[in-house]
Amino acid sequence: METSVPELASIGWRFENTYSRLPQVFFASAQPAVVSSPSVVILNDPLAADLGLNLQPVSSSTAAGLFAGQILPAGSQPIAQAYAGHQFGGFTMLGDGRAILLGEHRTPTGQLVDIQFKGTGPTRFSRRGDGRAALGPMLREYIISEAMFGLGIPTTRSLAVVTTGEPVFRETRLPGAILTRVAASHIRVGTFEFLAAREDTANLQVLADYAINRHYPELTGTPNRFLQFLRMVCNRQASLIARWQLVGFIHGVMNTDNMAISGETIDYGPCAFMNAYSPDTVFSSIDHAGRYAYGNQPGIAQWNLVRFAETLLPLLDSKIEQAIEFAKEILGEYPAMFQQYWLQGMRAKLGLTTEVDDDLELVQTLLTWMESVRADFTNTFRDLSEDEPRAGTPYDAPAFRTWYDRWKSRVQRENRPLSEVRTAMQRANPAVIPRNHLVEEALAAAHHGDLAPLHNLLRVLATPYTLDASSKTYREPPDDDRQYRTFCGT
Ligand code: AMP
Ligand code: MG
Repeated sequence: METSVPELASIGWRFENTYSRLPQVFFASAQPAVVSSPSVVILNDPLAADLGLNLQPVSSSTAAGLFAGQILPAGSQPIAQAYAGHQFGGFTMLGDGRAILLGEHRTPTGQLVDIQFKGTGPTRFSRRGDGRAALGPMLREYIISEAMFGLGIPTTRSLAVVTTGEPVFRETRLPGAILTRVAASHIRVGTFEFLAAREDTANLQVLADYAINRHYPELTGTPNRFLQFLRMVCNRQASLIARWQLVGFIHGVMNTDNMAISGETIDYGPCAFMNAYSPDTVFSSIDHAGRYAYGNQPGIAQWNLVRFAETLLPLLDSKIEQAIEFAKEILGEYPAMFQQYWLQGMRAKLGLTTEVDDDLELVQTLLTWMESVRADFTNTFRDLSEDEPRAGTPYDAPAFRTWYDRWKSRVQRENRPLSEVRTAMQRANPAVIPRNHLVEEALAAAHHGDLAPLHNLLRVLATPYTLDASSKTYREPPDDDRQYRTFCGT
């Protein structure tokens, strides 16, 4: 691998490689495969700037080589991370089968972030897979992760997508691509499960301390840190899943290997945003039983956290019965944690800053009406933040009018003019989300070399709470998307 391209020296990488200094069982060294003709599809300039990376002087062929893993940044040390996971409930040993971690980059604000390639060829963990990725799924992750960031939801970010010049073979022949992902870390519930399955308590503690140091540094060295760590991971997940629910995001494959200890949304595969409100919404082609349906996400997160707590038992107390008691107590707090974040978010969506006992019922009545008429989740809340119900719209229905009057009298108790309440609501209710048909349009155009729809979509998704003339066309929901199916990014 070449590292001496002069333009690269000024990019500003600052690699630290803390993960590859952990014990050998945590990873395997890995090298991106050589590819024939890498070419840049998209670079995330604002993200690069935030990371302190100066890509401006870099030629597009050098950038392509860099983000295809053909020219490794100085100081990086490529590895594939070992992990396990419960996939649709069943336990499996996994690991980065098509991803390579270059190391951790220190940003100008002092934050340490993982720089990871996805689609760079086989690793020791690839099993039967080819280690490659196709252009569509990599751009899909780029779009949805950047949309989540625009919405203010914790997420991994996407720095670049390049094509490799080589085909990948799925049901059809597709253009191969590589995504460069930036994450607080890639430590998963499954990373803990990997060590627990090996009954390697010493290294489990090494991992827990590493994760604490990176994500919960205030706990470093404290005596009860593993209990607090469990509590804080549960808390961040409760907050994260509440944020998903509040925008109608469906992850699609909430396996324990796809749940990050940092509390970021990670591993965008068959994810999609809900249009019509219905808790049983599922888009993933492989989720036949609806395990990961919209309405199941809070409970599934708890199920995953139980798996996480199980791995930590040896660290929670030397006596197993006591350790189980501690874990049960913390896990038992999760439903209330989630409910609090969710209700707080729902209050904000309805323009409420004070708390009244009936608020939950007020929210539920609205949701029940929305479900009964298949109202668009995003637009219902946004419309409420913009206008009075108008004749000739679905809001003209008596059931909605009754709820609306009730909401208005509740808003009166806020002691703020309705116009002010509505302005605040617009900051809590996005006007645009990455609707499935818009994502598909952008991907189809990109497949044919037309990147304009992709760039236009990313532009409106960057400021989803602001409605301008151009974003109006992005608000229209599809007539019916019940047949829409997403596919895993493999
Ligand atoms: P995912 O569905 O992306 O969360 O991946 C689940 C597991 O399958 C992970 O261990 C991946 O590394 C592995 N995997 C997914 N796609 C491929 C592929 N094309 N080649 C090798 N491993 C893969
Ligand atoms: Mg995964």
